[in-house]
Amino acid sequence: MTGQYRMARYDEGTVFEIGGESHVRSATGHIPDGLKGTVDLPDLTEAEVMRHYVRLSQMNHCVESGFYPLGSCTMKHNPRSSVWAATLPGFASIHPEQPFSTVQGALGLMYELERMLAEIGGMKAVTLQPAAGAQGEYTGLLLIKAYHEANGESRDQVIVPDTAHGTNPATAAMAGYDVIEVPSADDGTVDLDALKEALSDRTAALMLTNPNTLGIFEGRVTEIAKAVHESGALLYYDGANLNAIMGITKPGAMGFDVVHFNLHKTFGTPHGGGGPGSGPVGVVERLEPFLPVPRITRENDMFVLSDDVPASIGKVQSFYGNFLVLVRAYAFIKSHGSSLQEVSEMAVLNANYLVARLNGVLPMPYGKLRKHEFVLSGEPLKEKGVKTLDVAKRLGDMGFHAPTIYFPHIVEEAMMIEPTETEDKATLDAFADALTCIVSEDPEGLKCAPTEVEARVDEVFAAKNMWLTWDLAQQD
Ligand SMILES: *Cc1c(COP(=O)(O)O)cnc(C)c1O
Repeated sequence: MTGQYRMARYDEGTVFEIGGESHVRSATGHIPDGLKGTVDLPDLTEAEVMRHYVRLSQMNHCVESGFYPLGSCTMKHNPRSSVWAATLPGFASIHPEQPFSTVQGALGLMYELERMLAEIGGMKAVTLQPAAGAQGEYTGLLLIKAYHEANGESRDQVIVPDTAHGTNPATAAMAGYDVIEVPSADDGTVDLDALKEALSDRTAALMLTNPNTLGIFEGRVTEIAKAVHESGALLYYDGANLNAIMGITKPGAMGFDVVHFNLHKTFGTPHGGGGPGSGPVGVVERLEPFLPVPRITRENDMFVLSDDVPASIGKVQSFYGNFLVLVRAYAFIKSHGSSLQEVSEMAVLNANYLVARLNGVLPMPYGKLRKHEFVLSGEPLKEKGVKTLDVAKRLGDMGFHAPTIYFPHIVEEAMMIEPTETEDKATLDAFADALTCIVSEDPEGLKCAPTEVEARVDEVFAAKNMWLTWDLAQQD
């Protein structure tokens, strides 16, 4: 296939298959003499290898190639201005061990970003260290644990609603807590009576997402906060859905004590295999003494990193976190300025436009008004033998990434759709048309989707048989 232009196709072989039987090729001249004949390399030129990987990348649906309504993940377009900022040599080429005097700009950016996030979250102080939302949750629970211990209390339970993201109970368990699940009421929000029943002097915290994973705002959140605080527990805000409320309200105003931010969801960093993330954590005043070290402080007009925090839970990340993600978030917030609120307003408008367009196509359990995302049920399709998984696969044929499926668990055959603020009306219409069309398609055809590829991937088999290298695949 040498010298021939090929578009991305779904029958791309591995580099070894393309390279053929004889592996080591001396003609390329790139293999040092001493290694020739000793390393197992495909018989391909550098250009061929590059083209192979570019074709592979084109087989992937990404936010640059099309609509990506993966609910809860906020797969928005990430502005190139943020990417540009992160590539500036003064940010991209510095080393974490440089003397403070030579990286004042970087430290100043982090110092300011902490304050901007604190303002958005309604918190007193922020740490930028955690590398993802899940690590933010873990850090947050360690802070809560340290707080209770400092008060001479050993509380051993964390409460999560049944709509919670899987990371919430997983984090609580990892932090050594017993996980107590509370059910949702008929309107899809936390069942307040069940919550009050579950709260006790054993409760360390309630972890809550607001709006929740159904896209519904917990309207009684101040009542929830009151009940939680009266029992002596703290309230944790899973900030994955912050894209719905920025500039409109703040977790701090709702009574939350700890918040994590997913910079790779809300604040302009690509994610989903696109690179590292960042999950800063904000806290109210009474939790500030426990924040991880180092803290960024200001001494005599110099920004420095300080380890002098006696009650700190310690380090949670190498150095101070994923710095270039912080630069992107800083650029994103600065470029929106006081109009950050419009991000959320557009995200909510887009979601509710799709809700209106899809009305009657598939049921949407738990009432009609949504924030930035909503959950449909593929239940009625079951009588035709069609599953939500089939619909998701078929959307791929039509050029759309699938929504999040089978989550939250309280909706049968769930499809969780989050359009984000960066999509235009034509894209939303095209997606609504595609879904409307799929629902009335021939069930037999749907079960074969996606048709663009040779066959549907057996995901269970793939998860159980970890052939991560060519050699492993050859052995079986
Ligand atoms: C994404 C997400 C998380 C976890 O965040 P990561 O950054 O992926 O670790 C937690 N809760 C909800 C609701 C999420 O959508």
